[in-house]
Amino acid sequence: LVSREIQPADTLIRVGKVTIGQGHLTIMGGPCAIEGEAPAMAIAEQVKAAGGQIFRGGAFKPRTSPYTFQGLGLEGLKIMAKIRERFDMPVVTEVMDGETFDQVEEYADIVQIGTRNMQNFSLLKRAGQSRRPVMLKRGMSATLEEWLMAAEYILAGGNSNVILCERGVRTFVRHSRNTLDLSVVPVILKESHLPIIVDPSHAAGVRDQVLPLSRAAVAAGAHGLMVEVHHQPDQALSDGAQSLYPEQFITLCGHARRMHAML
Ligand code: PEP
Ligand code: MN
Repeated sequence: LVSREIQPADTLIRVGKVTIGQGHLTIMGGPCAIEGEAPAMAIAEQVKAAGGQIFRGGAFKPRTSPYTFQGLGLEGLKIMAKIRERFDMPVVTEVMDGETFDQVEEYADIVQIGTRNMQNFSLLKRAGQSRRPVMLKRGMSATLEEWLMAAEYILAGGNSNVILCERGVRTFVRHSRNTLDLSVVPVILKESHLPIIVDPSHAAGVRDQVLPLSRAAVAAGAHGLMVEVHHQPDQALSDGAQSLYPEQFITLCGHARRMHAML
């Protein structure tokens, strides 16, 4: 079902007034995690002003260490819903398990499945029954086939609104957190009709690489970007080192739109 041989026409996904897919460049921005209402509102205001169309933020966080900030859970989801109302921006947030799926689906416009859950098949089956579009991030060591087969679970379950998100794969390098695999973008455009967006933040792990990788992603044909932004990155409770300052996000949106207009 994910193959272009089965469906030649590009899938376009509409969330509120935003369209994701061929011909569009959708920029999503926001903090790694929702840390409280005031900081989330401050960041959302800046994301919106810069030209970001969708607000991102984690309420349920898949953290490597159980001793680090795990997210605000339901309280974080409620803050995201307030942001949607106040700024007229759809919101995307991660779902980690079947138990919280109903909750996440109630508050989010797009449900995100993270890299660590790409092959959580029961979660994929649940996502197939969701009324929300699903953003499926690539597993950090997943091949293209494994990733597309994970998407296939969601489509086979009845939900054809799937957005793929490349976020870097694990390699031997130490100069970045992961290695952004941009060659996967043209291959997906050829083999699948699903929209493909790129998350340069989790690929890079450091903010200096985010702007050049974003330009490159758009040049490679990505339909959008998902970028971590924080009003005070040095105070962030997670992923501060890769979070852009709001001014940097303004620059990124400008460069990305100009790059997209050139194509
Ligand atoms: C995220 O986008 O919040 C996230 C945790 O990313 P990933 O699943 O790609 O690590
Ligand atoms: Mn993060």
